[in-house]
Amino acid sequence: MKSISLFWMFVLDTVIGENSWCQLLGGQCQTDALHCSGYYIKGLCGWHGSGRCCYSRSTDPISCSNVKIVSRSDWGAVPPINVSYLKPPVGLAFIHHTDTQSCNDLESCSKVLQSIQYYHMHDKGWTDIAYSFLVGEDGNAYEGRGWDRIGSHTKGYNDRSLGFAFIGDYSSHLPPATGLSAVKNLIKCGIENGKITGDYCMYGHRDVRDTTCPGEALYREIRTWPHYNCTDRTLFYLNKIRTGKSFPFII
Ligand SMILES: [Zn+2]
Repeated sequence: MKSISLFWMFVLDTVIGENSWCQLLGGQCQTDALHCSGYYIKGLCGWHGSGRCCYSRSTDPISCSNVKIVSRSDWGAVPPINVSYLKPPVGLAFIHHTDTQSCNDLESCSKVLQSIQYYHMHDKGWTDIAYSFLVGEDGNAYEGRGWDRIGSHTKGYNDRSLGFAFIGDYSSHLPPATGLSAVKNLIKCGIENGKITGDYCMYGHRDVRDTTCPGEALYREIRTWPHYNCTDRTLFYLNKIRTGKSFPFII
């Protein structure tokens, strides 16, 4: 299997240029003489050892015109214990529900968020609230780990995905339309700001783990969204090269 992958890498390198793998992932091939402000990824800059693939990392807050993002300080988050960073843009988005009570304004959502964060950090032993963003029934998005930090939402995929959670239990009913729009608009904003690839693939948590999340009603809804369960071969292949694992279900 490995030799087949190497063969196709060679063919594609010949056809589209030896630096294109790095560029396809949003990076730039460069030698060690140049400073890389982000991360190096091995094996994406041709066969001649002429450079390494550098991803730049921007952690500046981005503003989204079409969705209100409530900052961590505004909902009363405690600082994370530890932080590690994604390599944007990521090509995967996972949808969750928190399986808690729902909330419909800043005050009630802040209370639920603080209790979720406490549960994740003290009972689950994670470094922070698990999700990238959480959306309330007020239609606002609450910042969890945000665009740049690796979450704890979808085991096996956290370092290559963002996790969007609807606050509540959506087994038997849907979040309000404003909440559904908020997640769609968040993802759109993430694409515009280089955090998510335009051809990203979206799944429900239950697609990759043994869980009912994001709830039956919400799961039925997201399966109608255009990026659900896509089979983009380029993404499939790039993920396989990066991780050495088959994607997405065989881990
Ligand atoms: Zn989940």
